[in-house]
Amino acid sequence: MPADCIFCKIHAGEIPSQRVYEDARCFAILDINPVSWGHVLVLPREHHETWTDLPADLAAHLAGATQKIAVAVKKAAGAEGFNLLMNNHRSSGQAIFHAHFHIIPRKTNDGKSFEWKTKPYDAGQLDKAAEAVRAGLK
Ligand code: AMP
Ligand code: ZN
Repeated sequence: MPADCIFCKIHAGEIPSQRVYEDARCFAILDINPVSWGHVLVLPREHHETWTDLPADLAAHLAGATQKIAVAVKKAAGAEGFNLLMNNHRSSGQAIFHAHFHIIPRKTNDGKSFEWKTKPYDAGQLDKAAEAVRAGLK
C-alpha cells in the first residue's frame, strides 16, 4: 500500500472512519466533509488509483456493491435521488488517489450544484468527437 494513501490507512484501521458496509473486496464509509447528509464513499480494499486501473472483475464487483449501497443511502437520507460519481485524475478534481465512488443523496431544490456549464458542439465537432471515441475503442 502506498504510505501516503488516506484510504489505505482507513482500510488498515490506522485512521478512524464510519464504515457503513463491507464485503470481501470493498467497503463503504461516510465522507467526513459531505456534499449532503449521508454522502457515502465506496472503495475497493486493494489500492488502485482510478476506475480504469481497476481489474475488470473488481470494477464489476464495486459497481454491484455501489448499486446496493445507493438504495440504502437514498432510504437513510430520505432522498428523492442521488448523484453517483467518481473523479478520475487530478484534472477532474480527484484529491485522494484510491478509486472511490461518491453516492450523494439529493432532494429537489436542495441548492447543490456541480455548476457544469454545458454548450452545444461547434459545427462538425459532434461527428469528430464520435469518431475519435470510436477510434479509441479499437
Ligand atoms: P475526491 O475528490 O473524489 O478524491 O474525493 C475525496 C473525498 O474524500 C472528499 O469528498 C473528502 O471529503 C473525503 N475524505 C477525505 N478524508 C477523509 C476521511 N478521513 N474520511 C472520510 N472521507 C474523507
Ligand atoms: Zn490506497
